Amino acid sequence: MSLVARKIASSFARRRQRGRLHKSQHPARSLWDPTINSKLEINREVLRRLWNSLSYTSAEAAALAADPARAAAIVEEVYGAVEADLVAVTKASLDVGAKAAAEDLGIAGFAFNEANPAAVAWAEDHAGTFIVETTKQQVEAVRSIVSRGLTEGKGARKIAGQIQDVVGLHARDANAVYSFEQAQIKRLIAAHPKTPEATLIARAEKQATQYAVRLHRARAMTISRTELNLAANQGKRIAWRQAVSDGELSVDGAQREYIANPNTNHGVCDGLDGERVGFDEEFSQGDPPIHPKCVCTFGLRGAAVL
Ligand SMILES: [Zn+2]
Repeated sequence: MSLVARKIASSFARRRQRGRLHKSQHPARSLWDPTINSKLEINREVLRRLWNSLSYTSAEAAALAADPARAAAIVEEVYGAVEADLVAVTKASLDVGAKAAAEDLGIAGFAFNEANPAAVAWAEDHAGTFIVETTKQQVEAVRSIVSRGLTEGKGARKIAGQIQDVVGLHARDANAVYSFEQAQIKRLIAAHPKTPEATLIARAEKQATQYAVRLHRARAMTISRTELNLAANQGKRIAWRQAVSDGELSVDGAQREYIANPNTNHGVCDGLDGERVGFDEEFSQGDPPIHPKCVCTFGLRGAAVL
């Protein structure tokens, strides 16, 4: 061991004897730490593919167009099909955060237990709630397409096509697709007065479908970042609690400190940087992420290794 390494090791040992974890000793790696981020990115890719795989068969779209009263049942079945995989990728992301937090504590022989019941329960609850909420939004989107289609005298086939476009989208994105299509129809008719309207409408519908695909991908991207960053952050809390219940860590008087990502510029997050709350207390804006794609995290301050 080099002289410098020995000096560092002995100063670490002294601090360890005092029992207090110092900030420098306890880096609490962030979500944007390259080793953590690269592991999360693998999970994000899984979730993006999962979300992009959501689709309605033409029979399902036809059934939704014909009978909006069945919308809840049909949408629940389509969305419910990805729930188990969503739970798995959420849990895997929680484990990334939890393992990193356990390593960062630097307690010899201590590791995060992946079968930790609190971790399993959190992933199941969170993914389940997420599916319920997104299902509700989708049912709302489908119903508004059907009622608008009927008001405008559209045929069932056209309505079914619009329903297929908005799978995986929030109700507000579904409305954006509709507005886009309406605007395109007007624009094309004004620009091409000699072309038959039916041709231009068909072109606008095709463009609207392409727009919906882009929104669907963008939403998959947002969901994969936001949901899995949340899971990784909750993993930290669960790992710390495991260390406490294993008798390895004392959090008497310890605090959690909000750490805003210095690489991005989000007014609301930057204002929270450094906010401290008790170990089991909540931040003023809740645990990050606090907005879509937020990569803020938190660290542990003033805990003592036992
Ligand atoms: Zn943030």
